[in-house]
Amino acid sequence: MKIHEYQGKAVLSSFGVPVPKGKVAYTVDEAVEAGKELGFPVVVKAQIHAGGRGKGGGVKLAKSADECEEIAKAILGMTLKTHQTGPEGRVVRRLLIEQGVDLEGSKEMYLAVVLDRASGSPVVMASAQGGVDIEEVAAHDPGAILKERVNPAVGFQAFQARKLAFGLRLHPTLLGRTVTFMQNLYRAFEATDAALLEINPFLMLKDGTLIALDAKVSFDDNALYRHPDLKELRDLDEEDPLEVEASKFSLNYIKLEGGNVGCMVNGAGLAMATMDIIKLAGGNPANFLDVGGGANAEQIRNAFRILLADKEVKAVLINIFGGILRCDVLAEGVIAAVRDLNVKVPVVIRMKGNNEARGKEMLRDSGLNFSTADDMKEAARRVVAAAGSAAMAGAQ
Ligand code: GDP
Ligand code: MN
Repeated sequence: MKIHEYQGKAVLSSFGVPVPKGKVAYTVDEAVEAGKELGFPVVVKAQIHAGGRGKGGGVKLAKSADECEEIAKAILGMTLKTHQTGPEGRVVRRLLIEQGVDLEGSKEMYLAVVLDRASGSPVVMASAQGGVDIEEVAAHDPGAILKERVNPAVGFQAFQARKLAFGLRLHPTLLGRTVTFMQNLYRAFEATDAALLEINPFLMLKDGTLIALDAKVSFDDNALYRHPDLKELRDLDEEDPLEVEASKFSLNYIKLEGGNVGCMVNGAGLAMATMDIIKLAGGNPANFLDVGGGANAEQIRNAFRILLADKEVKAVLINIFGGILRCDVLAEGVIAAVRDLNVKVPVVIRMKGNNEARGKEMLRDSGLNFSTADDMKEAARRVVAAAGSAAMAGAQ
């Protein structure tokens, strides 16, 4: 789960990581009010769940109340496009108004804690080449990014922080505060079950003060049950509306770009295999939808509704292994959904397992026009053909 910069900074601050003073604003008036309270100059920062805002025009310095008003007006409601938002961009609904920091004589560095899958442990990363283009640095000069793997049993050690500080060529008199900064950041990572804490720029001011000028924070979804307070920080406006809807019914739905075959499958492994076999048959899946091993008829109905809300979907493949979710329960859900929702797109069903015969009989007796297949390959071939001809018909 990603959160906004202003929320991330509040979390970091509670662990003793220094951040500039700031306030969130939802309206132009609130932005101006916050500016007056903080004192000018302030930085007006678009709050979206993506980086690269500076380059995209979402971070601006305001030297007066008038300027603050003008900038807030321009940024609030704009569709901000950055290299992380994709071409469609994101609508800005919140601003962070922050005390302007004088960058004159400062050093912009990079600092992050991430979960490294290769080593199966957290890694603290630092680079002297911080600022806006860390992806470039990673691509062209990977040696400029220093890494310290953390043994989770003992935590991030002071000697590791010192090693990073030396690598960043920080003055030895700054060692103590750098170690404290990094250890506080790591404490925040561990205590919140974060997946990523990224500070870019990690700023050293002319007088040696260290401060997190930006904060990108995301948490491990699977650990959120331990953090009801963090769960509150979720911003549904930043998420795909269909994915939000699906999560209400405990459906694991992810929209995929460019496909036209809607898939409804139980079990993540079967879902992956189904996507593969659709590709093998020359088609493209429009989504990943795992209804879970124990789905009931009501969940099947909701899953169908969500699948069909995607206008790209030209045909649906249902591929179910009847275990706890029996084939007759699936059939009941599918029949109800197709009737209720007045489904027009072709539906191909392949099911195997408990009460398979009963399920098939129900589908047959429903009088609805389902296509059934006994094996996955055949099912995939049929649904791809159906999606192809539906798409052709639509294009004419
Ligand atoms: P990002 O582009 O989404 O990563 O947003 P950042 O928070 O990193 O801001 C982008 C850039 O704006 C930074 O790298 C700074 O150069 C600049 N910036 C941010 N805050 C301030 C500030 O308080 N004062 C000045 N002068 N520049 C700032
Ligand atoms: Mn940044």
